[in-house]
Amino acid sequence: MDTTRYAGGCFCGAVRYEAFGAPRTLCYCHCESCRRAAGSPAVAWATFDRSGFRVTHGALAEFRSSPPVTRGFCAACGSCLTYCHEARPGEIDVTLATLEEAARLAPQMHVWVADKLPWVRIEDGLPQFPESAAGGANGTLP
Ligand SMILES: [Zn+2]
Ligand SMILES: [Zn+2]
Repeated sequence: MDTTRYAGGCFCGAVRYEAFGAPRTLCYCHCESCRRAAGSPAVAWATFDRSGFRVTHGALAEFRSSPPVTRGFCAACGSCLTYCHEARPGEIDVTLATLEEAARLAPQMHVWVADKLPWVRIEDGLPQFPESAAGGANGTLP
């Protein structure tokens, strides 16, 4: 078992979390739900085993952004922190930029490119998927 520990938290420090084991997937999501949730043209996600994830300080506020999707955020500062999809009960996505290890966890693909804003230019050579990637990176639906 991979016991590598990752840790992260929100902007203000009220919510802290940890995750054990290597991220399964690192991606940019361009879907409209992620864009609106984060107020950002795309959101980078790291997918972990849900069994290895826990909140270590404070509590996640939750918002159901579509029937199968629950997004977790900090109620004090608004940082977007987590994404859980009912079709992937064993996984949790965390916003890559809230991880302390963000600098060495580069995204590997772009998903939901069909939804992307027209002025976002993808020129990094990474694989692009019109919707979710095979294997379910960041949701089967936004
Ligand atoms: Zn906060
Ligand atoms: Zn998304």
